[in-house]
Amino acid sequence: MRVIDHKSIQAKKTGGSKLKKFLLVLALAIILAFVYEVGVKHTVLNVNNKENTPTKTATQVSQSTAKNNLRQFTPEQFRELYKSFVFPNTAKISEETPITYSESLDERIRTLAAAKGYVIRSAPIVDSFVAVDSEHKLQQKAYADWVELQAHAVKDNIGLKVIAGYRSAEDQKEIFLSRLGNRYGATDAQINNVLNTTAPPGYSRHHTGYTIDLACQGYENRRFENTPCYTWLSANNYENTKKAGWIPSYPAGATSQGPEPESWEYVWVSKDSTHTQ
Ligand SMILES: [Zn+2]
Repeated sequence: MRVIDHKSIQAKKTGGSKLKKFLLVLALAIILAFVYEVGVKHTVLNVNNKENTPTKTATQVSQSTAKNNLRQFTPEQFRELYKSFVFPNTAKISEETPITYSESLDERIRTLAAAKGYVIRSAPIVDSFVAVDSEHKLQQKAYADWVELQAHAVKDNIGLKVIAGYRSAEDQKEIFLSRLGNRYGATDAQINNVLNTTAPPGYSRHHTGYTIDLACQGYENRRFENTPCYTWLSANNYENTKKAGWIPSYPAGATSQGPEPESWEYVWVSKDSTHTQ
């Protein structure tokens, strides 16, 4: 618009009808060019907006679906959540359960266990267990959310079965010793081999009453990570597990957590911990 004003002022100053006509045509040409340019740009913008609008909406929809109020965790963050979570009705195991008949061998086992990331766990203060079945029991809060997890799985045609729940330090001792075999002259290599899969007594997450080992019905002979159950549990950053307040106990990818990753073991940490609100 400035250009037009300038030209018309110039026209007044100069005078002359030919020049006036020329300037008028020129002004019209400028106006037309201006209108055309604005018009085209406007149309282009409109087209872009039309193209952008549905894309933006689709992104927003997928973000809100993925969010689902569930917190996202890296393997390390799962490990840290386990560490920081205060398990109700538990206290740290204070006494060291004797493992073998040799104090020096026990000491060596504990030192090697600590080097792998094992720590002394907690055990229930009062007996508030609920029986999952005739063989397995869990602390009350874990039991309620296990029932929810299992029911949700059944709806999706997934058969989850608890094959380990609460375990006392004495029970853990029997398991550890049976795997160690040589109770007197075990070498560090033999001990480390057992520690890859089995905690020494006092160091098992099963002592709390909030940890479960799962089997997949119909796929008992397969490694758990190769079953539809594991696929269902672990999909989308353990979405189904977290919905019911459970997390993987030893997720793949986390280091210094004790045993190697255990696809079948899950820990109750409450829905408050797994949800953003
Ligand atoms: Zn286990």
